[in-house]
Amino acid sequence: MKNTITLHDLSFEKFITKTNVQHAVNGVAVRLNEDYRGKCPVFLTVLNGAFLFSSELIKKFDHDCELSFIKVASYEGTQQSDEIHTVMGAEPSLKGRDVIVVEDIVDSGNTVETIIKILKDEEVASFKIATLLYKPEAYKKPYKIDYIGLEVPNDFVVGYGLDYNGLGRNLTSIYKLKESTMTNLVLFGPPGAGKGTQAEVLKEKYNLVHISTGDVFRYNIKNATELGTLAKSYIDKGQLVPDSVTIKMLNAEVEKNADAKGFIFDGFPRTEAQAEALAVLLASKNTGVSGMVALEVDDEVLVQRLLERGKTSGRADDADEAVIRNRIKVYYAETAILKGFYEKQDKYHGVDGVGTVSEITDRLSKVIDTL
Ligand code: AMP
Repeated sequence: MKNTITLHDLSFEKFITKTNVQHAVNGVAVRLNEDYRGKCPVFLTVLNGAFLFSSELIKKFDHDCELSFIKVASYEGTQQSDEIHTVMGAEPSLKGRDVIVVEDIVDSGNTVETIIKILKDEEVASFKIATLLYKPEAYKKPYKIDYIGLEVPNDFVVGYGLDYNGLGRNLTSIYKLKESTMTNLVLFGPPGAGKGTQAEVLKEKYNLVHISTGDVFRYNIKNATELGTLAKSYIDKGQLVPDSVTIKMLNAEVEKNADAKGFIFDGFPRTEAQAEALAVLLASKNTGVSGMVALEVDDEVLVQRLLERGKTSGRADDADEAVIRNRIKVYYAETAILKGFYEKQDKYHGVDGVGTVSEITDRLSKVIDTL
């Protein structure tokens, strides 16, 4: 089985192998066989997560036993998230029985506490708690957990009955959420603000992969690809290439650099749809945009800079003042709103974009070092 898996939008890495899970189940079974010799306990399985552990456990249990099931749920999304209610009660009555509660995982202990209250109300003869996984760092309750398969740190885990939004229960190994240490910068600002120049310096300084959507389009135009021909019709007029085309291309560029420590996105996102697509893409790598760093430069300075650059850049869209002004207009009409998009997430950082290259790098670095 694979070492890394994706469930919905998140990646998980293998944490406990199938063999080690089996060892843990066996260990609990051996102890139960000793402790319940001559008794006929009821295994009370806590649904849904514990069903796999429970089914393996009872197959290894050598004495008579009965089965019962209980389902409890927390009131998620409310302030009483610690409060738990019964969705499905144990049948038939557990009164006077020796009960083995079977749990997949004990973390805060809220579920265990609820079940113990139920068992006391039912006047059981005795009860013990058996769990496959136990998180000592998260457990806050005074009740003894009698049988523990494995102790695990306080990570989010899936597999062997445990799920992430419904998926992962059928995995035979246990996986934990992959941590990300990536730095992903959105370098922002109007055309001519100096994004490309700064990206060249910053990518070396921070060991990041620089993706300039404008550069990728120009590469495609030069090589007369289908994408290039399509993009050219928009670029020559100073308009934006449609989102669907740009997003697909950006995704492919990111996937080409699977081992990157992080990215500098230059010229992307330029619309809200692109910003949302970027969030989804990075979430699939358990990461996100670390911050938007924006170079702020006056419009007239931009026009002069671009006309100057047009003398040597060979870019048709830099040579014509009308196209330049249209690019700046498109920036304010369609792209500038992204300032608000990232401001809402506390990720917008404006930097004065007028000065020498190294002065501006220093200003950007001061921001990046805090992200
Ligand atoms: P740039 O090199 O970033 O100034 O981009 C040059 C041109 O490429 C823009 O004027 C657009 O026509 C096109 N382009 C680059 N990035 C994007 C994007 N994220 N969305 C749509 N069009 C883009």
